[in-house]
Parts: sequence; structure tokens; C-alpha cells
Amino acid sequence: IDMLKATLTGDKKPKKKIAVMTSGGDSPGMNAAVRAVVRTGIHYGCDMFAVYEGYEGLLKGGEYLKQMAWEDVRGWLSEGGTLIGTARSMEFKKREGRKKAAGNLIEQGIDALVVCGGDGSLTGADLFRHEWPSLVEDLVKDGRFTEAQVAPYKNLTIVGLVGSIDNDMSGTDSTIGAYSALERICEMVDYIDATAKSHSRAFVVEVMGRHCGWLALMAGIATGADYIFIPERAVPAGKWQEELKDVCQRHRNKGRRNNTVIVAEGALDDELNPITAEHVKDVLIDLGLDTKVTILGHVQRGGTAVAHDRWLATLQGVDAVKAVLENTPETPSPLIGILENKIIRMPLVESVKLTKQVADAIEHKDFDRAISLRDTEFIELYENFLSTTVRDDGTELLPPAERLNIGIVHVGAPSAALNAATRAATLYCLSHGHKPFAIMNGFSGLIQTGKVKELSWIDVENWHNLGGSEIGTNRSVAAEDMGTIAYYFQKFKFDGLMILGGFEGFRSLKQLRDSRKDHPIFNIPMTLIPSTISNNVPGTEYSLGVDTCLNTLVNYTDDIKQSASATRKRCFVVEVQGGHSGYIASFTGLVTGAVSVYTPEHKINLASIAEDLSLLKENFSHDKGEVRNGKIVIRNEEASTVYTTELIADIYCEQSDNKFGAKTAIPGHVQQGGVPSSKDRVTASRYAVKCVKFFENWNKRNLTTGNMEEDAHVLRFHYNAKGEKISTVAHEDDSAAVICVNGSQVTFKPIAQLWEEETSVELRKGTEVHWEEFNKIGDILSGRLKLRAEV
Ligand code: ATP
Repeated sequence: IDMLKATLTGDKKPKKKIAVMTSGGDSPGMNAAVRAVVRTGIHYGCDMFAVYEGYEGLLKGGEYLKQMAWEDVRGWLSEGGTLIGTARSMEFKKREGRKKAAGNLIEQGIDALVVCGGDGSLTGADLFRHEWPSLVEDLVKDGRFTEAQVAPYKNLTIVGLVGSIDNDMSGTDSTIGAYSALERICEMVDYIDATAKSHSRAFVVEVMGRHCGWLALMAGIATGADYIFIPERAVPAGKWQEELKDVCQRHRNKGRRNNTVIVAEGALDDELNPITAEHVKDVLIDLGLDTKVTILGHVQRGGTAVAHDRWLATLQGVDAVKAVLENTPETPSPLIGILENKIIRMPLVESVKLTKQVADAIEHKDFDRAISLRDTEFIELYENFLSTTVRDDGTELLPPAERLNIGIVHVGAPSAALNAATRAATLYCLSHGHKPFAIMNGFSGLIQTGKVKELSWIDVENWHNLGGSEIGTNRSVAAEDMGTIAYYFQKFKFDGLMILGGFEGFRSLKQLRDSRKDHPIFNIPMTLIPSTISNNVPGTEYSLGVDTCLNTLVNYTDDIKQSASATRKRCFVVEVQGGHSGYIASFTGLVTGAVSVYTPEHKINLASIAEDLSLLKENFSHDKGEVRNGKIVIRNEEASTVYTTELIADIYCEQSDNKFGAKTAIPGHVQQGGVPSSKDRVTASRYAVKCVKFFENWNKRNLTTGNMEEDAHVLRFHYNAKGEKISTVAHEDDSAAVICVNGSQVTFKPIAQLWEEETSVELRKGTEVHWEEFNKIGDILSGRLKLRAEV
């Protein structure tokens, strides 16, 4: 009403008022999104509102449209579900209901709505926007408002965030909550695995996904399942039973003690007959397997959001507010999405339309179209799943001349998912006729013992969820003894080398590539899959193990923060690993709401400590002890040699004027270990198969190019009539490469170029700080910038 008065009396331009709501099924990360939207909006000078109880709240208006203060969303990052509530509203589906909703928004002066929900919620939101001008006209006709009162609210701005555990929205790689749900599923299946193995049982696990098989597919890959049923790829009616039995029996014959089958709740055969967990169970019992069913149900929605979802929701929430502020009446409603590592905007209507087409395609038995509407990662992973399980019966075997000997080596400190990647590479190799060889205990293991083990199916069978390194890892680099390494490469006739490691792996790849001139045996394709919690491999934004480490840190920091909150006036200085790379410190700071983050990229000095101290004092001085106000500061282990974690905490204590206390918390090596996260397992599998395909492609180029002159730059092997490799010759640099993620791209980048152009050898990291944005956003959302302004 004040707002209307201000408008009518011509007072100064009223503040932009934006509302945020959650709708449809709840998903972990929705609270992080609401927090980000509310705080970003306040930061940009807007009045922020939350609509409680979804569209039902919009219809009720009044207290259901609550203005949000900065403090109202404190602690929301670590809460599961949605704290502003969600509901399904039949009334909003009717025009009369939407008219009421429009009136309630105008009453509060709100003309922008950020909706976090699934395709239904977003369809409703877009319809609401389109109808808005006519709804407003009707409200005037009905006498609820005058022309003058509605004049400032001619258009409604809608921005969509996809909150859904199903990951069913077209055009975006992941939705808020999907990875949390996947994590819950994998935890549960891991538990089931233990009992299944003990009793030599088969388990059929039903997961959510009415029209979308993302959860089932990813869970299948991450838990080493034998078979999956997804709606997009219906199995042949009447025939799938035999295939399922074949696959499970084959894996039993190879030595497996248990079987896992994942069924999406919307699974169908190609005659559109539903396939339930009970159907699958009957088939497995018929095979003679002791079979149990577990329907995971709502446990999949439960719990706190994983690091990825907090990050996604936070960055998308920030972008949603920017999109509102940049919107014009002509701009189509945007939907905030993500491609690989890049936050993107896309037209909401288009994405929703494509999403709905999947269900239509399934209904019309057009399964090729249904799967083609999923993103490329989905299709790639589905094919990989088939290659490594269903089609490991010899159907994918390559001709003898194309079969390769592939060496796999782990280098450097362990990080989660080394085993998962090695397993995926091994299974893919075996189904294609290649021979996978594990170089035991890193390069120094090879040099000292020459131990190389040819990996079999049963060797790697249960490596999908094992942390650490089953083949052993070592910090030593290849250059320690190139001659001996070359000898063993010759002995085992390696045609390709897959290195998993961090900066030492990177360095080893460079050394092997450089010594090709002395040791022609290294003229084989070689790849590095960046695997390090420090995420310091030059040229890429993502390393295997980082996601697991971040989940560990998020849980650890949540617990510490809770302790700090319970004692009211306490700040913890949490020391995290990362070497000279501040990536995990900055990321952890962003997703745990740290007051400040100390990284090697931003040196600590007396001035910055003094500033943080006054920010903390100021913050704690307002606290009367009734609110949860534990504070966290994150310090990277290498942020300073002088200002140690202990010293910073001591300075805070000494100088706090008894306004608060400070303690240190150092999680240490727990950051490197543990069970790999579902995201790390899936990514490990994806990258490992990509690497083997990279070797295959190089080899195919050799086989198809006979012309020496024309292809002098191409790596070539020559084969005699028996199919044996007889020589190697010079090649181009592209064949020694690192698998890199940059924004929305995943590419193989040549090591020579990376070393030359993007590497700081001294600091053991890349020259580009691709995560700088995390610090800026973290400063806004933690209140650091606001506190600074107040101080
Ligand atoms: P989930 O993926 O969890 O099912 P969703 O957003 O798709 O989430 P729905 O139940 O389909 O969930 O939609 C949530 C609410 O959005 C509905 O209760 C209804 O109020 C509104 N809504 C859905 N579809 C429409 C529509 N076509 N027109 C108007 N409102 C709609």
C-alpha cells in the first residue's frame, strides 16, 4: 500500500520489488537458491519477498507474501527441502485463480517473480506472464484497482530456475537437487551392495523418474549396476527378460556375487507396458537368483544439498536476479541453466516445450526421439553403460588389428574416483577387445619393480565406490628413469597410456611427450585425466575427486558451523587443502557462507585481517544471542607462511574485545579420501571411456592412412600381415593431451601447448584463476560487502 501511495503521489521512484517462490516437488538446493535470490536482490537495492506455499500462497496473498530481510535466510544453505514451502495448486491452473494471484502481487507492488520448480510450475509461470496484461485489465474492470494504481505494473517479469530431482529439463545439464538425489540413491545402493554380496543376492532398486531416466542411468553407472530400465529407451516387449537374464548370468559367470538392477519408476517396454521392480524380480527369480526389491521412494528427496547443488543454486539464484533487472517486456522469459561448468540463460518456453515432447515421444513409441531430446552427456553415458555391461558379450569386439594394449597409471596424492575411472576404462577395454594393464604403484613402482598387472573383469568389478587407489599411486614423476620406463612400455607393447593424477601426472605427461625423440616407444597416444582435490591442473576447470572433497568439506563445515552457532559467539577458522590453488577454499567459502576466504591468490596481510576482525566484531555486536550466528572463515593451507590458521584465530581472540571467540578446525587428509561422490563416479566413467576412444581414434587414423608423406604429421603404427605393430614414427603433439573442461566444452588439449601457454610451473597450477567469480559472489552473499559498507 505504501508502494502504491508512493507511486500515486509521485514520490521518488519506488524500489524494484521481486518475489521468489518454490513450486512443485521440493528438491535439495531450493533453499540455497532462495537465499541467493533474496540476498542478491537486497544487494542490488531491491525489496525482496518470498511467496510461501507455492502458487497456493500467491492465491492467498497477505502474509503468504513475506518481505525478506538479510537475516531471514541465514543458515539456509545447509537446510534440505524448501523452507518457504511448496504446494500443488489446482486453482492456479484456472484463469480466475491467476487473476487473484495477480491482484495480490500488485497489492504488494511486486511485478517480478523468480520461480524455482519443475516444468509444470514453469509452464504456469509463463502462462501467468502472458496473461498478465489482460488479468490486470480485468482487475480494473472488477473494481479491485484503478487505472492509476495498476499503471506501474503493466508487465510481469518471470525468471525460471529448475528445481527438480529428476533432471528432466531439456537444455540444461543438471537441475537443482538432481545430484543430491543421485547421491542419496548411491549411498543406499552401496549399503544394499554389502548385504547383497554377503548373501549372494540380486537386488532390484526402483528410483524416481516418471518420464526421465537420468537418475536411473546415472545410478546405474555410479553403482556398477548390471542392467537399467529407463523410460526413454524402452526395452523390447517380451524379449527384455532374456537379455536381462543373459547379462546377469554372464556377470555371475565372471565371478560376481551380487546383481544390481535399477528401474526408473516410469520404465516401459516398447509396447508401453509398465515395467515394475516386481516384474524384474520375477525374471531374476526365474533365473534362480535370490532376489529382493527395494523401492527408495521419498528418501531420494531428503537430506541436505550436496556441494554441487548448493553451488548451482547459488550461482543460478544470483543470475536470476540479474536477469530480472536486465529484463524488458520484449525479452522472452529466461530459464537459468548450466552446460558443463557454465551458467547459461535459455528461453523458458522452448525448454519447457522440448521437455514436454519427451513424454509425447514416449507416448507415441518414438523412443529414438525421446532419447535424442536429452542432452549429449545423457546419450553418451547411456551408450557407455551399454558398452560396459549389456554389450560385454562380444558384440562390440573390434577387429584384431584395432585392439590395443592400454597402460593405466595413477600419479600423485590419491583423490576419490581413481578406481571408478580405472574400472570404467577396463570394462570398456574388455568389451572392445583391448587389454588394460595397471602400472602398479605409479612410475616409481614401474621403475623399481616392473610390476604391471593385466586387469580382468572381476579385478575391477567392485571399484566403482572404492576410495583411494587399488593399483597404488605415487608422487614420483616419469622423468626419474625414462630408459626403464621405455623398456617396460616396449615389453608390454603399450599402444596408449592413461594417466590419472594432478600436477605430477601433468608433469609426467609432459616429460613422456618430450622424451619421444630419445625413446620412440613413447610415440603412442597418451592422456591425462586430471584427478586431484586441488583442482590445479592447468587448462581445466574440473578434476576428479574435487566433488567428493567438496562434499566432505561442506558436511564438515556444516557441523563446525552448527557447533559455533550453538555456542553463539564463535568463529571457526577452517583450514582446507589445495596447495597453491585456492579453488576448494573459494568454493567451500561460497557454498558454506563463509565470512571470509583466505587463498594464495589473495594474499593475507595485516590490513585484511584487521578488516575481517572489524567485520566480525560488528556482526557479533548486533547478535543478542537469540539467532544462529556461528561464523566460518576458510583458509587455504598455503595462503600465507606467516599468518597461519592458528595465528589468525589467536589474533581474532586477542582482538575481539570479548565480543566473540575463535577456534581452528583442520579436516586434514579426510579431504583426500572416502567414498567417491556419485558425480565423481559418473564423471570418472565418462572421461575414462573418452580416453580409450581417443586411443582408438588415433589408432584408426594410423590404420586408414597409408600415405607417409601426406600424413607425416600423424601418429602412425605399421602392422605386418599378422596384425603385429612393427614400427612407430613421428607424430603431432595432439596425441599427448589432457582432458579439459572449459565452460561448456570438454576437449582434449595438447600438453605441449598447455605447458607453454597456461602453466605456472613454480606454483604448480594454471595461470588462469577460473574461480575468481566465486570470491566475488561469496563476498556479496555472506554479507561481507554489506558489513564492509556498514563499517
Ligand atoms: P515436479 O517436477 O516436481 O513435478 P512441477 O513444477 O512440474 O514439479 P507440477 O505439479 O506439474 O510440478 O506443477 C506445480 C504447480 O504449478 C501446479 O500445482 C499448478 O499450480 C502449477 N501449474 C502446473 N501446470 C500448469 C499450467 N499448465 N498452467 C498453470 N499452472 C500450472
